[in-house]
Amino acid sequence: MSKKRIFVIHTGGTISMEEDKQSGAVKPSSTNPMRSFDHLLDESAAIFSAEPFHLPSPHITPKEMLELKNLIEQTYKERPFDGVVITHGTDTLEETAYFLDLTLETNVPVVVTGAMRSSNEIGADGLYNLISAVRAASCDDARGKGVLVVLNDEIHSADNVTKTHTSNISTFQSPQYGPIGIITKRKVIFHHEPAIQQKLLVTTVSKKVALIKAYAGMDSYLLSALKELQYDGVVIEALGQGNLPPAAVSAVKELINQNIPVVLVSRCFNGIVQDIYGYEGGGKQLKELGVIFSNGLNGQKARLKLLIALSSANAPANLEKVFE
Ligand code: ASP
Repeated sequence: MSKKRIFVIHTGGTISMEEDKQSGAVKPSSTNPMRSFDHLLDESAAIFSAEPFHLPSPHITPKEMLELKNLIEQTYKERPFDGVVITHGTDTLEETAYFLDLTLETNVPVVVTGAMRSSNEIGADGLYNLISAVRAASCDDARGKGVLVVLNDEIHSADNVTKTHTSNISTFQSPQYGPIGIITKRKVIFHHEPAIQQKLLVTTVSKKVALIKAYAGMDSYLLSALKELQYDGVVIEALGQGNLPPAAVSAVKELINQNIPVVLVSRCFNGIVQDIYGYEGGGKQLKELGVIFSNGLNGQKARLKLLIALSSANAPANLEKVFE
């Protein structure tokens, strides 16, 4: 059987950094250490690679995410491949994975991976995760499953996975649902089918969308300021099932009256928001005001979805449909 052709895209992050043994600082090295392992990857697949940028993931913006989408589509036209692996910093990895999941129209497996320990640290997990990601991207069962995130022997879907720990190598988890597959020494095994993800066309990402977390005693000032600051939309990580402190409600009204969409997610990391409560600031009042209730996405992913929908040519005019 011929080897699968896998396009590996390096973007930076801890996986391609080194620890300075003098200062203890982890930082990018002059050459990406992961690129010296292509010969190891070549045992399981035929690899070709690119490094469009080399950034710690807190420096990644939706512009780089769009650049990755365009790079994958363009490269496929010129040099068709069987799978894609992206190495990425873990801090915003779930956002890039979700952006690509929402916007890439392909059945080819796209797998995002990273590392919690830099390349010269004891117990470095980068090379191991990279090899696992290449194995997953080479697997026929991975086709048509949307963008996948592979670290620490687990396969997660882009819409559910989130970084849950600051330093532990098992940081990536899918709260409520769990991973959709596992990687063992001999096999790549999928045990769940991910839900079909809707696709949105994207050519620009210039809209301004804020993400604001609700808290006990929250007032209206920050939310109100978004109008003056010319934001195009806001996602609020609301309390519980989708409630806000009463003092924040007047700003929500003002934003909606100005046609600035307000999307609600929960600051709880399990469950979905619903219009249950009938008190001042409760979900029922927010729904009547025109707040859009999201479907279980976390705040950072709902923010990306709103940003893309506001710039997209094929998003339904009724934004509620996008978040159903
Ligand atoms: N701060 C790093 C980054 O996101 C962490 C990592 O790569 O894991 O680039």
